[in-house]
Amino acid sequence: MVSRVIPVDPFDLVIFGGTGDLARRKILPGLFRRYCAGQIEGDVRITGAARTEMDSEGYREMVAEAIAEADPQAARQSEHLAAFLDMLGYVVVDATGEAGWAELARLSRPDRIRAYYFSVAPSLFGPLAERLHQHGLTDGAARIVVEKPFGRDLASAQELNAVLAKHFHENQIYRIDHYLGKETVQNLMAIRFGNMLFEPLWNSQYVDHIQITVAEVVGVGTRGDYYDRAGAMRDMMQNHLMQLLCLIAMEPPAKFNPDAVRDEKLKVIRALDPVGPDDVVRGQYQGARNRPGYRNQVGNRDSTTESFVALRARISNWRWAGTPFYLRTGKRLKERASEIAVVFKDAPHSIFGEEAGRHRNILTIKLQPNEGIELGVTIKEPGPGGMRLIDVPLDMTFAEALGPEEADFPDAYERLIMDVIRGNQTLFMRGDEVEEAWAWTDAVIAGWEARGDDPLPYDTGSSGPDDALMLMHRDGRRWREIKA
Ligand code: NAD
Repeated sequence: MVSRVIPVDPFDLVIFGGTGDLARRKILPGLFRRYCAGQIEGDVRITGAARTEMDSEGYREMVAEAIAEADPQAARQSEHLAAFLDMLGYVVVDATGEAGWAELARLSRPDRIRAYYFSVAPSLFGPLAERLHQHGLTDGAARIVVEKPFGRDLASAQELNAVLAKHFHENQIYRIDHYLGKETVQNLMAIRFGNMLFEPLWNSQYVDHIQITVAEVVGVGTRGDYYDRAGAMRDMMQNHLMQLLCLIAMEPPAKFNPDAVRDEKLKVIRALDPVGPDDVVRGQYQGARNRPGYRNQVGNRDSTTESFVALRARISNWRWAGTPFYLRTGKRLKERASEIAVVFKDAPHSIFGEEAGRHRNILTIKLQPNEGIELGVTIKEPGPGGMRLIDVPLDMTFAEALGPEEADFPDAYERLIMDVIRGNQTLFMRGDEVEEAWAWTDAVIAGWEARGDDPLPYDTGSSGPDDALMLMHRDGRRWREIKA
């Protein structure tokens, strides 16, 4: 089986912040891979736009190096590389000044799909939107892509939405959450709504609980300044984990179209209960051997920002009342592993007796490092010795099931950028969704601020603070092991 790649229409893309880390690691190598796959063809123009002084030739050299670093294998496709680099140009632009704007306006082709990727600090989103407007670049053919963080609370998110809405319609604004671009996340929707098997069981009558884990091994690295003002709740929970929760919990949309899907996600956030003091545990990692602890790394001895958060969320609606959702995310944990586990209830009665033990079905959706879906089923242990039961995984890992070509799917950024060009907003967050997620997040944060709770220390390489384990133990449940 070889996947069918459908080329997108020719487009002009301007990457503000085109010399930055995200552009070099993700956006440009991703575009190159889509070019190699045949999805980008024809008269396409990609323009880097940033404050860094350089010319187009220098930019092409920088991009070639970035691709070689990000994807050495792809970079060896030298014929493709030369043709791809030919599409690239560079303009020195100041988001807050006049430099470069006349040139950008001159380059703009009105009959084209034009995408403007705001890969810059969020404080520049407003000035960029304003200048695009001043130079007549906000017509219906234009669309903007904005990166996270989208605000740091409800008020700032509302402000950002208002600034963008001054010059762009909601259907021109693509708020990226790259978790939604993952193949498996979309497969989650295919599995739920494309099969008869799961949806009838997808409710509190059959699902005991759901766990969502996004675990990182790395610490805050060089992002200490930003991170210490954000913390795990704002940096990960408000967006990535919340989006995953929505896709798991939402009602079946009538159609797989952007507003139908996003309406359903919004309803989930609105149905979330307030999170009480016993529902949340925060942690901060300690140093280990030659690895500095959190406070050292961010250069703030008194920091009370969490690098780990675990919480129990409840959704008050007909489908989910009684089924808790346990969410956790943190840095410097034992392994880099992200997964969603849907843990089904025990069979109501075991005909095999006590000694057969307790067995339950678990549907695991693995997001990283390897994407795949696994269904744990109970079978008889083979061989003589009576009816002993064991759990085995039915593995739906794409690489094995579909063959290497099919499994070589685009990474999240590649897919999302192609969706921007195609004008498909299904996998992007709508303004009201983001605001609703902040309203919920703000209340959780206000709760621990009012209580004066400090984050609990946890060891580098552990599964987080012990209290996070207790969060589930108290309910007679336990977290799945953090395992890549
Ligand atoms: P960066 O600091 O590496 O790059 C910033 C870019 O913005 C540079 O190209 C710089 O020249 C340009 N810039 C700065 N001031 C400018 C101005 N006044 N006018 C025009 N250009 C200007 O940042 P980054 O890590 O690439 O992040 C970019 C955005 O993406 C941020 O919003 C960040 O939060 C978000 N993001 C980054 C990552 C990542 O992995 N790097 C991941 C998720 C989200």
